[in-house]
Amino acid sequence: MDGYTSPWMTEELTLFSDSVARFFETEFAPHQERWEKQGHVDRDAWSKAGAVGLLCASVPEEYGGGGGHFGHEAVLNIEMNRALVNFGIGVHNGIVSHYILSYGTEEQKRRWLPRMASGEMVAAIAMSEPGVGSDLKSVRTKAVADGDDFVINGAKTFITNGYHADLICVVAKTDPERGAKGISLVMVETTDLPGFRRGRILEKLGQKAQDTAELFFDDVRVPRANLLGPKEGDGFAQLMQQLPQERMIIALSAQASMHRAIELTSDYVHSRKVFGQNLSDFQNTRFKLAECKTVATIATTFVDQCMVRLLAGELDSATAAMAKWWTTQKNCEVVDECLQLHGGYGYIMEYPIARMYANARVGKIYGGSNEIMKELVARTLD
Ligand SMILES: Cc1cc2nc3c(=O)[nH]c(=O)nc-3n(C[C@H](O)[C@H](O)[C@H](O)COP(=O)(O)OP(=O)(O)OC[C@H]3O[C@@H](n4cnc5c(N)ncnc54)[C@H](O)[C@@H]3O)c2cc1C
Repeated sequence: MDGYTSPWMTEELTLFSDSVARFFETEFAPHQERWEKQGHVDRDAWSKAGAVGLLCASVPEEYGGGGGHFGHEAVLNIEMNRALVNFGIGVHNGIVSHYILSYGTEEQKRRWLPRMASGEMVAAIAMSEPGVGSDLKSVRTKAVADGDDFVINGAKTFITNGYHADLICVVAKTDPERGAKGISLVMVETTDLPGFRRGRILEKLGQKAQDTAELFFDDVRVPRANLLGPKEGDGFAQLMQQLPQERMIIALSAQASMHRAIELTSDYVHSRKVFGQNLSDFQNTRFKLAECKTVATIATTFVDQCMVRLLAGELDSATAAMAKWWTTQKNCEVVDECLQLHGGYGYIMEYPIARMYANARVGKIYGGSNEIMKELVARTLD
């Protein structure tokens, strides 16, 4: 957006943004096509990101993190989208590290966060199951206390970073009789863990380089000390507290994607000749791009307002839900219009707009589907 600077951007964040953009452009973008074909990034992508301080950017330095705040996570997700890179840093940094920071004991923080910051450990969060997605309180995975251990049984699916993950925040019922109040978050270290198995990396429509996998737990034993929070049964409330931040990661990515799609399309229509003139000279092209730019600008200004509130600790769940559903819906519409202006080339995967079209679609589904977001907003009207 010409001459516009997000109100939450600082000089320090601008410098961080430049170095993050350079890193994604030089270190990750050249591998993206190969990673898409193999269905996951190389494992050493995580250590490379750790070595330059991108992992756990918003975790205090005393735990090995970058000492930043959510503005740093916002920058990372924006720049990753601009570089058209799929890398599960949103889950690792923006979600799992914050569950540990918010609910972990001092010992848990010191055990896991430095290894997540270096890339030695890759983190995932396992909520969804084959039979349960939106209705989280119905999860069937159980973590039953047995002496000093929990014994975990269940299956999870659609888990981002599932192929690489060494540390998984598992949403499980510690008391199946108590519904939402029987849910707990249990951290599982997967290395050489008996009973833990990864299933397929799921073949997706888009976001192909991000490993999304099935996970199976058959009598998996983990110490009860791996519970997040002071007592069993707090998991659902912990999830609800963290969700506004998670939804903002999706909204930030969606608005960044709209701007990138418009830039790419603007370049394309200025060089493509049809009927003896530039495609950009047609009024339809100009009006379509003008509409897209208007939508993207409104998206950014609303997301920025949410960011300011989030950084002040004041973002409520319904407003975050508005940002998530609206930006992801509009991202799909804007990218679709931009693809249309590419003609047949828009349908060819070597053109970035085709990959952006496929990548955009999941925004309306994950992080709480857009229908669930509208439910959250509608409840404020009851
Ligand atoms: C690429 C990808 C990555 C993902 N990463 C993760 C991850 O890292 N961790 C994780 O735990 N999960 C992850 N998910 C899962 C994701 O969060 C779920 O797919 C999502 O929550 C929807 O659940 P579901 O697929 O079971 O759909 P369902 O809950 O079965 O919903 C099906 C349809 O019904 C609608 N619906 C459901 N309830 C209602 C209602 N009350 N009112 C109106 N409509 C309703 C939904 O909106 C949807 O349109 C990922 C999914 C994908 C595709």
